[in-house]
Order: sequence, then C-alpha cells, then structure tokens
Amino acid sequence: MKTELLTILRETDGYVSGQSLCEKFGVSRTAVWKGIRQLKEAGYEIEAVQNKGYRLVSVPDLLSEYELKSIRKTEWAGQEICCYPVVDSTNTRAQQLAEDGYPDGTLVVAEQQDAGKGRRGRGWESPRGSGIFMTLLLKPGISPANASMLTLVAALAVSAAVTEQTGQPAGIKWPNDIVMNGKKICGILTEMSAQFDYINHVVIGIGINVHNESFPEEISHMATSLFLETKRRFHRAALIESVLERFEHYYAVFQKTEDLGALVREYDARLVNMHQNVRVLDPKEPFDGKAMGITPRGELIVDTWESRRLVSAGEVSVRGVYGYV
Ligand code: ATP
Repeated sequence: MKTELLTILRETDGYVSGQSLCEKFGVSRTAVWKGIRQLKEAGYEIEAVQNKGYRLVSVPDLLSEYELKSIRKTEWAGQEICCYPVVDSTNTRAQQLAEDGYPDGTLVVAEQQDAGKGRRGRGWESPRGSGIFMTLLLKPGISPANASMLTLVAALAVSAAVTEQTGQPAGIKWPNDIVMNGKKICGILTEMSAQFDYINHVVIGIGINVHNESFPEEISHMATSLFLETKRRFHRAALIESVLERFEHYYAVFQKTEDLGALVREYDARLVNMHQNVRVLDPKEPFDGKAMGITPRGELIVDTWESRRLVSAGEVSVRGVYGYV
C-alpha cells in the first residue's frame, strides 16, 4: 500500500482526504493512518489537517522499491525493482536474478557496493549513500556481436538525464564514462551471458557519484560528484527514473537497426573527446591522434597523422593528451 499511497500523495496538489484513501484501498481509517505513519518513519514529511486530510510536504532521498515505483513513468524498464542496503556488485546481483528467472527490464539498486566493478577487472568506489549504484537487466533479442553498443546507448541516457536534472552539461568520454567539467561522475559496465549466437542476458551497471564530498587520493584527480560540481543535493530516485526513461527512448532507436546509425549525431554532440587530441591506451601500442566521432558500430574514429583508425571499446582507454579528458 505504501507505493499506492505515495503515488496518490504525489499526484495531488493539495490535501487528500482520509476518507477517499479508505475508499480507494477498501481499508479502514486505521490502516490508512498506519501507512501514513510508516511513510513518516521512513522520512517523508506529511502534514495531516483535520477535515482536510493529508498533504505530502517533502520526500527523503530514499532508494526503496516504493519510492522508485511511485515515480515510475517508464513502459518496461524497472517494472521489477530489487533494492538492497548492501551488495557485492549490482551487476553480479542482477546476473543471479537473471538466472533465477527475473524478467527483462528488472532494475537492481543498492545503497552501497562492497565490490563495485569497473572495466577489465578494475574497481568502482561505492561508499554508502553516496551515489547511485544501479543495474538494468535486459534479455534482448539481438546478436551477441552487437551487445557492446548497449554501453553507448546507456551513456547517451545518463548524459541526457544528468544534464536535464542538474542543468549542467554532462558529456560522454568514449565509450562509457560521463564527465562534468573534465572529471568523471559516472561509469558504465556492460556484461553479457551468451551462447554463440544467442544472448541469455545483458546487465548494464551504472554508477553515478551524487553526494560524494571527497574521493580516495588515487582517483581524486579524475573523479567528481554532482555535489562537488554544483554544490547542490539531488534526489537519487528522480535521477534513476530519468535515466530509465531516456534509456527506453534510445534503446528503441537502437533496436530498429541494431546499431547506432540513428544516434551517431547525438552521441558526437555529447562526446567530450570530439575534435580533441587523444591518447589511445592500446595495450599493443598506445598512439595519439584527433578524435573525430563514432561510427554506427560505436567505434571511435581517430585521425593519426598518417591514417584514420577505428578503435573498438573492448581493450582500450582513451585519455586527453594533456589530462583525463
Ligand atoms: P578510464 O577510461 O577512466 O580508464 P574505464 O572506462 O577504463 O576508465 P571504468 O570501468 O569506467 O574504467 O572505471 C574504473 C576506473 O574508474 C577505476 O580503475 C578507477 O580509476 C576509477 N574509479 C573508481 N571508482 C570511481 C568513482 N566512484 N568515480 C570515478 N572514478 C572511479
């Protein structure tokens, strides 16, 4: 009932009468009052006025199933939501849920990750309550060869959502990082379980630094948070909802052709490396050049002084020649 109560309180400008809530849910006044009390205990500020009813005054920055469901406007993303205080990694948890039969679009959210993952076995700093640690489980009917492009689809969604919610540009550092003022606020890690020609499931993990006031020394030169960049606090559930809504949009466009053909322009417009000198940290041989945007398959086009090279995401990182971006 908490989800429904919250949804009604949110949708109503003024007061909702206790009587109308009783009728809506077919329960007693005491049951409604209990629901309201539970919400208050969770941190919701709800005003109760005799003969008028209840009014939602403010909401806490809570990542609960009922909070996320009461603001949900998506069609399929986040239809099932699993929230945890602590997990090892939301990607690992989502993979377990996939094996247990959870459906396409299941969302996993945690307040803290004990073993947050980055690309190529690296870690993701995930202290309690500091950010968004979420994973979207997909069971896409696409070829396994095309799944890596989903990272770029997710990057578009986060870039657009963060820009909208903060009012400050949040660009993409190819292929999977979102940056604000030259520092990283978000990393995306896509993992897949597949047969030769069939995808069992894909999990897209998104870590966004929201409230962090500082970072460990090893990453402080390249990591930042929404709070550090804007000096404002953000409601994490609203940001998650915005990411999911935008993901649904870009994913639908991607699915039509199973490539990024129709998204290249927008991706390039959000690409902080665009027309910048970059260093491609290829384990075989690093090289420098100028980034010229992406191909419809999500490769980065890099003009070196001798030739034009196409860089695939798998094994490489890209740096600005003079710094992180
Ligand atoms: P890069 O291109 O920056 O090397 P990557 O895309 O190869 O990054 P990711 O998987 O996005 O790697 O992120 C892992 C790396 O990000 C870690 O090795 C660490 O340097 C850095 N990192 C870890 N936690 C955070 C965090 N909370 N915010 C920003 N950066 C982080």
